[in-house]
Amino acid sequence: MANNSDIVQSVKKADFNKCEELLLLFEKTLPTEKVLFTDFQGKVLASSNSFIKEGSDLSIFPYVKKALNGKSNFGFDSLDSISFAEFYSSPIYDENKDIIGTIVLCYELTGKGFVELIHGYGIECTIFKNDERVASTIAEVVGTKIHNEKVIKTVLEEGKVYVGGVSVNKKDYYSVYAPLRNEDGSIAGMFFVAQEKKIVQNVTRSILRIIIPICALISLILIFTLLRQSVHNLHIFKQKNDQLRQQVNWDVLTKANTRLFGTEELKHCLENFKKGFPSPAIMMLDVDKFKFVNDTYGHEAGDKVLRSIVEALYKNCRSSDKIIRWGGDEFIGIFDGMKAEVCGEFAKKILSSVESLHHEINGKPFVVTVSIGFAYFSDSDISYKDVLARADEALYKSKKKGRNSFTIAD
Ligand code: GH3
Ligand code: MG
Repeated sequence: MANNSDIVQSVKKADFNKCEELLLLFEKTLPTEKVLFTDFQGKVLASSNSFIKEGSDLSIFPYVKKALNGKSNFGFDSLDSISFAEFYSSPIYDENKDIIGTIVLCYELTGKGFVELIHGYGIECTIFKNDERVASTIAEVVGTKIHNEKVIKTVLEEGKVYVGGVSVNKKDYYSVYAPLRNEDGSIAGMFFVAQEKKIVQNVTRSILRIIIPICALISLILIFTLLRQSVHNLHIFKQKNDQLRQQVNWDVLTKANTRLFGTEELKHCLENFKKGFPSPAIMMLDVDKFKFVNDTYGHEAGDKVLRSIVEALYKNCRSSDKIIRWGGDEFIGIFDGMKAEVCGEFAKKILSSVESLHHEINGKPFVVTVSIGFAYFSDSDISYKDVLARADEALYKSKKKGRNSFTIAD
């Protein structure tokens, strides 16, 4: 049995100068572990393992081979016909980082020990030396014929692994039979491992009991996230849509409706008129000498004037009326239900409220006026442009009259 001082002794004997991997393995050292060292060719230099004598060549064993190639590793191997060992192996380096040998720690598993170890994991196990049962965790069945002769023969003679099921004392087991081999590959025995089906099913059921709620929770979170994302997207879409509608329908500078909006509105009014509804009053308004305002007071002052004129127009309107910026300093008004008789009074109100607006630049006040033309749809109108042409003509007359005046088309 190896202990730390044995390992230190062995290391000294092998004259290994530096071994970082070894220190790591020290921490893992158990009282039942055995230790052996090989040289750089895999030949055993020192061994506390009774099965492996000094001078034996271990270079063909995978765990030594890997260590000689610089890889620490671990695995199982058989020592004789029915003994097994768990190996940890690691390279040993000199100061130049050249591999000068290997250290192998091995935890020996006798046939009995192996069976008990596996049983510790809740697995039933039986080991055969040839076809003779040498250790079994199902104590009550030792000596009885639970193992199928044909299966045992297949495994022992043909070296095949057999996977199936057996029934012992009314309990059903999943089972595996596998051959055990000597180092030369010849079959030395067989082992049988089995696990009760009920246990396997219980494990599956308890896993399902955990997995199903987790899946449900994940699905809920997913659905919630998707819903939230959709609501968010819908919100963004609505915002963009509103923004677009705003841009299409409303003039940014003056807050009057746009020409596009006005065109649709005029078409709609003509359709209604053709259906027999009374014509709304269509007003065309143009700022007088607006170029002069721009040239004298600056473009920004001009913008301000346009804004204040629209404000004044809205103040004189009902909510159903429409004020449209037709272009530049030209505006159209659509006044539903306004008869020609009251049109003149309304036009005067607009002229005076625009004229009385207070404009000022650098402390200098100035007055701006507008000219107006009114028109109504007539039965001969084919397009909204017809009424606009009459309103425009009326506006032209107002300009001709000396501006700051209105004209109602015949
Ligand atoms: P009239 O009395 O004959 O209408 O004379 P007017 O100087 O107003 O002539 P017109 O209506 O043809 O001129 C319109 C001017 O309005 C021309 C252009 O420079 C100016 N304008 C057009 N759009 C804007 C705008 O958005 N802001 C400002 N400040 N000026 C504009
Ligand atoms: Mg003008």
